[in-house]
Amino acid sequence: MKPVLPVDIDKIFIQSLFTKKEKEQHGLTIDVLRLDVMHPVISGNKYFKLVPWLEQAVRQQATHIGTFGGAYSNHLVATANACHHLQIPFTGIIRGEEPASLSPALQDAVSYGMKMVFVSRSTYRDKEKIRQQFPAIFWIDEGGYGQPGAAGAAGMLACVPDAAHYTHIICAVGTGTMMAGLLNAAAPTQEVIGISVMKNNFSLENNIRQLLAPVLQHRKINLIHSFHFGGYAKHPPALLAYMNKVWEKYDLPLDIVYTGKAFYALEQLIEKNYFPTNSRLLFIHSGGLQGNRSLPPHTLQF
Ligand SMILES: *Cc1c(COP(=O)(O)O)cnc(C)c1O
Repeated sequence: MKPVLPVDIDKIFIQSLFTKKEKEQHGLTIDVLRLDVMHPVISGNKYFKLVPWLEQAVRQQATHIGTFGGAYSNHLVATANACHHLQIPFTGIIRGEEPASLSPALQDAVSYGMKMVFVSRSTYRDKEKIRQQFPAIFWIDEGGYGQPGAAGAAGMLACVPDAAHYTHIICAVGTGTMMAGLLNAAAPTQEVIGISVMKNNFSLENNIRQLLAPVLQHRKINLIHSFHFGGYAKHPPALLAYMNKVWEKYDLPLDIVYTGKAFYALEQLIEKNYFPTNSRLLFIHSGGLQGNRSLPPHTLQF
């Protein structure tokens, strides 16, 4: 049975960014897969990664779902929202001590009925032990990482009318689940480029490889680590100004944690002539815009 979520897949569209003149000037095209428009909370990659996990939960007649995340986790909010719709009780294991005031993300998740369990950073690391303390809960891995998440993310390319036509696919990388799914779904000749949004997260390559299909085990995993802007969820003024500029130029709203950094990286790669002439680029807008609400009002123009 497919879990029924109120997302609107039909809204997903491809946005072509370059004018004819820009195409000629750069010798390439950029199309953006706008997954951000399908739902305000379960948007983009969170939906695709969650569906197979939730299918499993429903198949196993789970009476309670749990997952893990930090105070700014889109994954916690999306899972809380999905469980709310499925009317399955949900517990979030949250890294760190309970703060005096909840982050916007946690406030949202609680409004969808999430029960919060705060654990110290050292306890959080031993997830197996936490799971054992709640044997009745159906657990989804942190960030939706795992085979189900990657299988779901592979479905993103099925939303692209002419996916085989692109030479490069560019996406933001957190846990690497989405990138693994894209690599599994991409043609062998397509280059998938992942922009890591964390600082020095060098375990990523191995984590991604673990989710690749056996025949792809030797495939190159192209990760770029130099566009984290100071670290996970860090958003210096230069990044915010850049996001406003992209909005003005392309009507493309980006988020501070993932797509803002990935799109910046893409423009830098173009600037440095990384892409051969006549490349056709597909940028995955993986959603996450609700994270921008943690900014002071009017920081962003959208
Ligand atoms: C969670 C998230 C990602 C990261 O996905 P992973 O599969 O964990 O790498 C990228 N973009 C957005 C908008 C996200 O919310």
